Amino acid sequence: MTGKMQNKATGFVLNFRDYGESDRIVTFFTDQTGKLKGIAKGARRSQKRFANAIEPFSLSAIIFSRRRAEGLCLIEDCRVLNHFPRIREDLEKTLMASYFIDLADSFTEEGAVSHRLFKHMSDFLNLLEAEKAGESIMRLFEFRLLCISGYEPTLGHCISCRKPVESLKEISFGISDGGIKCEKCAPLTAGRISISPGTARTLVAGKNMPVEKLRRLIFTEYSLRESRLFLVPLIRHITGRQLKSLNVLMEVKHLTDTI
Ligand SMILES: [Zn+2]
Repeated sequence: MTGKMQNKATGFVLNFRDYGESDRIVTFFTDQTGKLKGIAKGARRSQKRFANAIEPFSLSAIIFSRRRAEGLCLIEDCRVLNHFPRIREDLEKTLMASYFIDLADSFTEEGAVSHRLFKHMSDFLNLLEAEKAGESIMRLFEFRLLCISGYEPTLGHCISCRKPVESLKEISFGISDGGIKCEKCAPLTAGRISISPGTARTLVAGKNMPVEKLRRLIFTEYSLRESRLFLVPLIRHITGRQLKSLNVLMEVKHLTDTI
């Protein structure tokens, strides 16, 4: 024995690329070690060895080893725990799941462990497996991801006078200040996005709700549009770019007013 340490982890496949003639480089988001990047030797040649385990958003049980603390690890074995068959047979669901993992990827640094983010991904992929690919799932995924990652938009009160949203009639959202203001504190001018207090309240209600209860949260078409019009630019502002998987998904869902 060489004394090489074998480690175990459970993780979602964020992305992979072919490497050389027969290998693949895979990035997982794991519960135990956060983002984990490794080389799966022979993954291109032997489909059987890593069957279904190295596909986007699959949940896999991984055995890996590493010689150094940093850099690529060696994926020794990888077995699929959940392949999400109902997502994969539906184009819209597949695009939405791809957007979720791209978004999770952009909000995580290598080596940062987040059990909350792992649970968030698990919750929403399971929800998508069971439910229709409605836009509310997408907006709640974005909103809750922002909250988990430390970028929670302030929607419960005016960030200037602190009046609760329940007492306000007209509010607007500012991308650069990350919160709502009432009409007295900020007249609606260029750069502020008009949203209704009802939309803000619906999102806040969905922040900590157990995922199995989220289907009871009713978003009107109007609320979905308002949520889209501030969440998408806010995420673009934070990450500095717009994800391709979002553009494709929005086109398929005919929601191109924000892109
Ligand atoms: Zn105010």
